[in-house]
Amino acid sequence: MKQLILIFLSLLSPLLAQEKHAPMHRLTWEEYAGTLAHWRKAFPKVAVLESRGMSGQNMPVYLLKITDPTVKSTDKQVCLVTTLHSGPERTGTTGAMAFAEWCLSDDPLAVETRKKQIVLIMPCVNPLAMFYTDRFRNEHGIDPYAGTGRVGKIWDVKSLTINKPENAPELAAVLSVIDEYQPEVHADLHGTGLQEYAPDQLGSRRMYQGQIMTEVTGGAYSNYALRPWDWRVTEAMIAAGKEAGFPSDRFEADAQRTFWGPELAPLGKKLWHGMPLFYSAHYGYAKYHTMVITQEVAWEQSLVARMKGLMKIGNEAWLDEKAAGYPVNRMRHFVGHFVTAYGRNATERRASRVELWNQQSEFALGFLYPQTVGRESLVVATTAAAKKKIVAKEFPEAVKKFIADGPELKVAMEAPNEQLLAATTDATITKGIGFRMRLPYRAPTKLDVRLNGRALKPVAADGYESWFADGFTQVQVNVPPQKLAVDGLYFITCAYEPDEQRPNGWMPPAEVRKLYATDKADATPATFVDLAYGPHFRQTMDVWLAKSEKPTPVVFYIHGGGWGAQDKTDIHQHLDVRAFLDAGISVASINYRFLADANAAKVTPPLQWPLMDAARALQHLRSKAGEWNLDQTRIAASGVSAGGCSSLWLAMHDDMADAKSADPIARESTRVLFTATKAPQPSLDPKQLVEWIPNSEYGGHAFGYIGKTRPETFAPFLANREKHLADLREWSPLSHASADDPFAVILTTKEDKPPVKGEAQKDPTHSAVLGVMLEDTLKPLGVKCEVRHPFDGKPETTMQEVLLQHLNLSKP
Ligand SMILES: [Zn+2]
Repeated sequence: MKQLILIFLSLLSPLLAQEKHAPMHRLTWEEYAGTLAHWRKAFPKVAVLESRGMSGQNMPVYLLKITDPTVKSTDKQVCLVTTLHSGPERTGTTGAMAFAEWCLSDDPLAVETRKKQIVLIMPCVNPLAMFYTDRFRNEHGIDPYAGTGRVGKIWDVKSLTINKPENAPELAAVLSVIDEYQPEVHADLHGTGLQEYAPDQLGSRRMYQGQIMTEVTGGAYSNYALRPWDWRVTEAMIAAGKEAGFPSDRFEADAQRTFWGPELAPLGKKLWHGMPLFYSAHYGYAKYHTMVITQEVAWEQSLVARMKGLMKIGNEAWLDEKAAGYPVNRMRHFVGHFVTAYGRNATERRASRVELWNQQSEFALGFLYPQTVGRESLVVATTAAAKKKIVAKEFPEAVKKFIADGPELKVAMEAPNEQLLAATTDATITKGIGFRMRLPYRAPTKLDVRLNGRALKPVAADGYESWFADGFTQVQVNVPPQKLAVDGLYFITCAYEPDEQRPNGWMPPAEVRKLYATDKADATPATFVDLAYGPHFRQTMDVWLAKSEKPTPVVFYIHGGGWGAQDKTDIHQHLDVRAFLDAGISVASINYRFLADANAAKVTPPLQWPLMDAARALQHLRSKAGEWNLDQTRIAASGVSAGGCSSLWLAMHDDMADAKSADPIARESTRVLFTATKAPQPSLDPKQLVEWIPNSEYGGHAFGYIGKTRPETFAPFLANREKHLADLREWSPLSHASADDPFAVILTTKEDKPPVKGEAQKDPTHSAVLGVMLEDTLKPLGVKCEVRHPFDGKPETTMQEVLLQHLNLSKP
């Protein structure tokens, strides 16, 4: 018996569970139709009721039109509210009824909305489902929302028509309203439904008491592709709902997932699972550029609150617009440049919007690129002929002048030239056209807005308007029907003066700027930057030309870094280029191929690349002597460490000019007047080096030895020296010492003791001993060589002073 009672109770449990919740009223057809009739009577003229078609069981598909008849409809927005899932999704319908009730109320926002908008409400699209079947499909098996029948889709998406509309009278009724009104906004309401329940699970009330759902604004559970194109509309509605105490969801943000497409499909399960299907509510968007919003409704008052947020948007000017209304007038976009609907009121803009929306695939958009301060532009071709003109740069003279006056490199078009040239069809525009550009300043002055070179007046209907909104100064150009371009080419230019100077260009921290002499480099821009003297990307130099009547002497600088680091801007850490220019001395600083580049190319020894590049760069510079007013007889080579070694090699090597070469640059001399170097290596012969400084360790890497440390490459280099004799003869500076060598000044500043041959040194690679040994070699040949170090008893000097002194002293 006890068991029998338990079985009996378990059968009843769904019903018993219901009693926990407050009863939910099930709206009847009589109450529904009766309410609509009541409103029509209670609010004559404000509420207009009509039947737009007949659903099953002779139940009309009603349209309730709410607007203030004392205000002309010319400038009103049109908002359509439908319930394509009504029936099982009951709160869509009851939400629409609650919203209609609010629209007819004395709430000041409702009063304002009636003056500014026509609100079209179809509270129950599928009455048979709502009041009888509680299932999605109508009596012919068609779901008006998904647009599916018993054998799949009833939509032909290309022609935007449905098969056998007689079997889908509910959907046909909605489409007829969209066609008639071409609304700005279409909000389709969904909600809690009974489609999951069998009748015996619902009890005598035929309702599931206490049923709610997670509300979503701007999208339905079923199709995330149906939502406003501007998420700020969704956010405004969510905010309005939240203020009334009803939180709702927006999909990507809350799911923390982004869009994905075919290439991301393998990651699909991890990523956002959007379903971009065509559903019936896409119809208005596809045909009339209607903004579509779907919403899930659990509580009718939540829907009313969120719809109030939407109505506000329709009543007011959108964030960056001047006229009140929904943000629906942008028909085409290319990087912040827009084609917009033309019109003096909502009706004209609607007609223009629909016309341009259906023609816009023929438009080609572009603008002058890259963009620069003080100039903005937009070019739009609406015909095949205009597209060809853009490719051929056939613009009106005034436009050509605007282009020529600016630094932009090109008219950047959204479509490639081949596509523009292949165009054969023209857009047909009869209702005017608008264009929008945005200037990123609050109050720019001296606006000079032109269409095809013709200056426009600041006149709304035929000219331009400008206003500050959404952070930009908006510039709207309006072309009325009678002024449409015959050839379909619209080139809009806008010159202006910004009202503020904004810095751009990030600066590294002070410590880094100091390390790389950044400020000095920036303050001393070169006459020629990255001038190529060879095909490799490192074969470049910067050249500063001094202003002078007479040919100027030249400092030829080679940076250090072991032929494998740093670059030509290193000059600013060791020399004051500005001071040379002021003294009438020109300057060149070179980049050159590194040992690693030579190793990669299997060039042995790799040292020949940086050294030959130094010679080639010098020849290249000399070849420009006439053009650049350089004094070929007064070129001083300078450099630090490896750059000093290169300088000495260049200076001591016989002239590499090849008089017979077909290449004019190869015929140039490689001689220099003198060298001023800091901590250079005059010799790379390992035997010589260990004789001079027993702890020598530098040079192996320049002859192809690879290792983590200098000593690691030096030891095998020394051991194998015999194999490198020919290379050392060619590439070690000292091998080329001869009586005709130019004089050398060598500076070292970090010595901790007087330089003595045969003693170990703190920094053997940069020791003054190396300079002393060079001096010992050159002096007997009659070549002047001066070695400066902290223990020489003379006043301290710098490469700068040495170069200035000798280049100026040697003035003819
Ligand atoms: Zn639904």
